[in-house]
Amino acid sequence: MQVWKFGGTSVGKPERMHSIRNLITTTDTRKIVVLSALSGTTNALIAIGEAAKANNDAEAARQTDDLKTHYDLFLKELYQTEAGLAQGQQIVEKEFSFLRSLVGIKPFTIKQEKELVAQGELLSTEMFAAYLQEQGENAVLLPALEFMQIDADGEPELAVIEEKIATILGQHTDKQLIITQGFICRNPRGEVDNLKRGGSDYTASLIGGAIRAEEIQIWTDIDGMHNNDPRIVKRTFPIRELTFEEAAELAYFGAKILHPSTITPAKMQNVPVRLKNTMQPDAPGTLIANQSTQRDIKAIAAKDNITAIYIHSTRMLNAYGFLRRVFEIFEKYKTPVDMITTSEVSVSVTIDNSEHLAAITAELREFADLEEHDLDQTIVCVVGNFSADKEGIALKVLEAMKDIPIRMISYGASEHNLSLLIHSKHKADALNALNERLFFYEQEASEVPSAH
Ligand code: ASP
Ligand code: MG
Repeated sequence: MQVWKFGGTSVGKPERMHSIRNLITTTDTRKIVVLSALSGTTNALIAIGEAAKANNDAEAARQTDDLKTHYDLFLKELYQTEAGLAQGQQIVEKEFSFLRSLVGIKPFTIKQEKELVAQGELLSTEMFAAYLQEQGENAVLLPALEFMQIDADGEPELAVIEEKIATILGQHTDKQLIITQGFICRNPRGEVDNLKRGGSDYTASLIGGAIRAEEIQIWTDIDGMHNNDPRIVKRTFPIRELTFEEAAELAYFGAKILHPSTITPAKMQNVPVRLKNTMQPDAPGTLIANQSTQRDIKAIAAKDNITAIYIHSTRMLNAYGFLRRVFEIFEKYKTPVDMITTSEVSVSVTIDNSEHLAAITAELREFADLEEHDLDQTIVCVVGNFSADKEGIALKVLEAMKDIPIRMISYGASEHNLSLLIHSKHKADALNALNERLFFYEQEASEVPSAH
């Protein structure tokens, strides 16, 4: 069995839904099909929620009407028969009347907000399942709220998910296509919750791991993970193969194509993840698996809005226990540290969540001297296969960076990451310089076409 996930743009137009039907019915493999909300819907729902929270009922109603109009038009092109259209209209009327009742609840709390944003995925999957039914496909809709469960920290309850999915699938062994919602889940209070923005990828991977799928396919509108950010760098190309570790680093350090947690469940069960393009279904895309090609340097990613904190021990040499005290403070404020560099008496760290920056620095000052921290920093992360015996990797990276001030360097923590901290104003220059040096320099010197 395979799990195929389609993102917002892949379901965002009626004709796109038609092509998805063709894609999922071309092969005989049984599939669980995970859908996002139609593109723009989650943002629209969040905006409606904001208006409701601010007690701006007229604005919430106006935005709800606009969204409803969008769906009414969508239905007319999605369905091919009168009966299908009637079915679709019934779904949209039902979901929107629920949505309107939610928006009217006072006070409008986080609980209502989460139910509201869940409507996007409920709408897309119900509409799509009804379309498949209209077309006579052997498909069933399974509500994600019946098996997707998170704990009090927002982490997925893997064992629960696995058990519930197995039971539910056992009731549908005759079905070829199983449709479900990405993103949405239940929390320990039984309320509707979600896996955070972009979480449909994570849903697909959680399901893929739970059922030990043969493969997880994430369908988007670009041709796989690129070796660099195509919005900033001109000459980028899709990477054919990545290891789980490399893909996880890239997703975490800024590659927008995947939700950063997606790789973990797939990796745990060794289920390959393939990134595919709905617009070019025959293109190979990117395969993420246990092993990949031996190419040294695979890709570059960048993460913005980083704050760097520079900490010096007030006790001089041999201050053991110093690092522990430093990290206890970050732990206390649930603030992950991304990059670390150390010397005998100093440690520099970066964080991307600066919500508790003031409290953290105040507590650090109780036993350390702090330099003024740097805001607007970017981590540039070079990812690849850098086993300990590889020479020359750092040289190439630093050569490319020769005109760009570097604030921190981290290399050797894992065998697949070299990270640099720079001011964000140098990001575009850094990504372009690295791209040329790491992916084109040698090839052009020897006239070999780009190796991808
Ligand atoms: N619809 C949700 C979002 O826009 C989840 C997803 O698309 O993955 O964030
Ligand atoms: Mg996405």
